[in-house]
Amino acid sequence: MIDAGLPVRAFFTTRDGGVSATPYDSLNVAVHVGDDEATVQENRRLVGVAAGAPVTFLTAEHGIRVARIEAPTASAPGADVLVTTTPGVALGAIAADCLPILLHDAATDAVAAVHVGRPGLFAGTIDAAWAALLDARPRRTRAPSIRASIGPAICGRCYEVPAELRDQVAARHPVARSTTSWRTPSLDLGRAAEARLAELGALDIVRIPVCTREDDRLFSFRRDGVTGRHAGVIVHP
Ligand SMILES: [Zn+2]
Repeated sequence: MIDAGLPVRAFFTTRDGGVSATPYDSLNVAVHVGDDEATVQENRRLVGVAAGAPVTFLTAEHGIRVARIEAPTASAPGADVLVTTTPGVALGAIAADCLPILLHDAATDAVAAVHVGRPGLFAGTIDAAWAALLDARPRRTRAPSIRASIGPAICGRCYEVPAELRDQVAARHPVARSTTSWRTPSLDLGRAAEARLAELGALDIVRIPVCTREDDRLFSFRRDGVTGRHAGVIVHP
């Protein structure tokens, strides 16, 4: 586990500590990647033990849909943002190269777990999560009280994309423009997410300096193809 650095219980899982066999070894929390269903459920239970509550994991759609989760469920609706305003509810954002982002609003203690890949960044998933936290406030306030933690993801030196795709994303997120260590066009999604969270007014932004493709403690779809997924987990206090 990697601590997310937020003032509530929040962490990013790694490959360690689960029961899945190769190539999902060992703490794979995703059911859609070909791993044994019962094994994944055991891994999810283990993550829940670490969280202190059963975790509701999102099913990513690479869009801006938000789901409010007020009680734990094994079948969350497809959404890239899960938000809760209920004490004790734990949320999980699944990823393996994409960004798992965790948010906490000190004004309400509402929390969000967010999955942001390239399509989601471009579509505005971060803005959708931000708006959902503002919507959870009982009255309007502009006080900056939302903290964010950006988890392990593929870095700008590794995330190679076609030049046209880089240009398209960089038109909206200029700081996303990057170059791989082998000098081809790439995107730095983490840098773009950090910049957008700062623009929105985040009180504090933690960025976990771990590249999933370069660090084999994490799952990486780009590196391994058939593999598992880790998660960012946050618990409403
Ligand atoms: Zn990298």
